[in-house]
Amino acid sequence: MNMTQAPDFRELGDHVALDMINTVEQSAAGPLDRWQSDSDVNAWLASVGMAPDQKAAPTGLLDGARKLREAVRLLVSQRKAGAPLELSALNRALAAGGSHLELAVQDGSSLSLARRYPSRTAAEWLLPVAEAAADLLVHGDFDLVRKCESDACSLWFYDRTRSHKRRWCSMALCGNRHKVAAFRKRESDDAATRTR
Ligand SMILES: [Zn+2]
Repeated sequence: MNMTQAPDFRELGDHVALDMINTVEQSAAGPLDRWQSDSDVNAWLASVGMAPDQKAAPTGLLDGARKLREAVRLLVSQRKAGAPLELSALNRALAAGGSHLELAVQDGSSLSLARRYPSRTAAEWLLPVAEAAADLLVHGDFDLVRKCESDACSLWFYDRTRSHKRRWCSMALCGNRHKVAAFRKRESDDAATRTR
């Protein structure tokens, strides 16, 4: 079999712009970038439902996507910190433009409205994600946009839980690690008290 295995993308950000940021994460061996080729970016766009149908990735997609990702990462942390926003890179990505609305009749009677994007250049391919990031910056509640509480973790998420008390990228990755560490600390504190 000659299938290229799509990288295992994390989908825990609960917002496509945060999932994009999370395609780079800290690991014991240094930053791990799940985008290593144009087709990796294509596979990611498909995984979030934003890839053009049945098309090979244009050259330059990886480069454009990485630039967009770092611009959005910076903006999200600036917005979170209440710092001045460096908007020019994202505005350049938004300027690809060229999308339009299209009406379609479905099931004979109901009418739907969808936005259609051009898909010739890398910038056009990335436009839906750039627009999603812009929407997050404008309409997102940044009390609920958070980085995972683990210092060793770089993943971001949008806390859509009812209680708004989400602390971890995921229980499996960081939440359990924290619980185990807290348990060990309690045990060793107890042991220290006993030997005193
Ligand atoms: Zn984490």
